[in-house]
Amino acid sequence: MSDPFISFQRKTSMSECNHIKDILNDEFIGKKVKLKGWVYRHRASSKLVFIILRDSTDVIQCVVKSDSEFFEAAKDLYIESSIEIEGTLRKDDRAPTGYEIDVEKLNLICKGEPFPVTKDQSVEFLLDIRHLWLRSMKLTRILEARHYIIEYLREFLDKEGFYEVPAPLITKSGAEGGSEVFEIDYFGEKAYLTQSSQLYAEAAIFALEKVYVLAPSFRAEPSRTRRHLAEYWHLEPEMAFYNNKMNMEIQERMVEYVCNKMGKEHGSLVKKIGRDPEYLLGIKSPFERISYEEAIDRANKLGCKMKLGDDFGADEEYILTKDLKQPIFITDFPMELKAFYMAENPNNPGHALCSDLLAPEGHGEIIGGSEREWRYEVLMDRIKENKLNVKDYEWYLDLRKYGSVPHSGFGLGIERFIKWMLNLKHIRDAIPFPRTINRFYP
Ligand code: ATP
Ligand code: MG
Repeated sequence: MSDPFISFQRKTSMSECNHIKDILNDEFIGKKVKLKGWVYRHRASSKLVFIILRDSTDVIQCVVKSDSEFFEAAKDLYIESSIEIEGTLRKDDRAPTGYEIDVEKLNLICKGEPFPVTKDQSVEFLLDIRHLWLRSMKLTRILEARHYIIEYLREFLDKEGFYEVPAPLITKSGAEGGSEVFEIDYFGEKAYLTQSSQLYAEAAIFALEKVYVLAPSFRAEPSRTRRHLAEYWHLEPEMAFYNNKMNMEIQERMVEYVCNKMGKEHGSLVKKIGRDPEYLLGIKSPFERISYEEAIDRANKLGCKMKLGDDFGADEEYILTKDLKQPIFITDFPMELKAFYMAENPNNPGHALCSDLLAPEGHGEIIGGSEREWRYEVLMDRIKENKLNVKDYEWYLDLRKYGSVPHSGFGLGIERFIKWMLNLKHIRDAIPFPRTINRFYP
């Protein structure tokens, strides 16, 4: 008897019905098939109706001839009408996916109204009707790829012995202590939507040692860039007894694992979206490491005008990475540029034991990571220096009071990672309902 838990394969065929992807092959030629889906394209003449049918897996051309009892019904469809068809598969090189179905039976599920997307294709309009535009070929395939990318991130961390833990989204203070927080009313008290789950992940390492949180983070980003969302999904692993070197090593292995696996298992999917699978298969660790100072030098040689102490913004990261093929780490940022909880590098005073991982081809930062300050007194000083409210961080300081240990962790922005992996122009296409400075509807 086969063990259903040994090899998991996504089920594409419904018992009473086929899926398009499964029948696009010579074995089905001459066979009867039954499909459920939506009208993707529609063209009618006096003799024939061509319907390109779409389901979750692909599209296929279906033909209804004028002598069919379903001819009038077939003529009368809208784009996105939902239908069920039965027919026989034929090979046809002129059809969009190489096969065609001679329709023998057509059942209208819902004709609906004329679909609005076909008229106006402006960016703003498509964002207004995002709930409908999700069905477009491009967004459907990106959503599919997003599913696998997250699956492989989890798979990698599982294999490395991590536990997934939850963290609250409503907090008493912003994790980074910065200004980019969304304030909410919590039963009459001020509260904030979380900017990062890191501090809670840190609490959980004292229970499970290696943990990760995968949850939304909220940033009231005033910047209109192609890589900032106000609500994004944040993967935040945190590891007890890891120093920053081990931290960087696990990051690069994770990135390599997920890129390689996507290239190997879903080459044709990523290709449809516009990323050559060979590129993903070629991502190979270890990644280059350069210090903050070296990065400034390099950026200036490439045309930036940065001074020591400046932070890298989207433009500088673009210039620095546009000609690279592999990701690159920038290490040892000045302490003032980074969050209060980062440990100082004893071999490079004034600089943090930290790294940003920048994706190549101009995509820029996808991960920020560091060793955490684990000594109570030093952390207390940092909180005060950063003018944070000690009271809000008492629980966090407690973690350094009872059996504190050296530890490290990092945060990967899921949509930034997807944007690079799939070579998307804008981060909003990596998430179905993007929240940006000027939009939170639909
Ligand atoms: P940036 O300088 O690009 O604004 P950051 O330094 O604020 O990034 P971190 O606070 O280190 O970023 O957050 C960790 C990771 O979360 C980043 O490396 C990035 O992948 C992701 N991230 C941060 N802000 C956003 C955002 N507004 N939208 C999408 N992803 C984000
Ligand atoms: Mg930021």
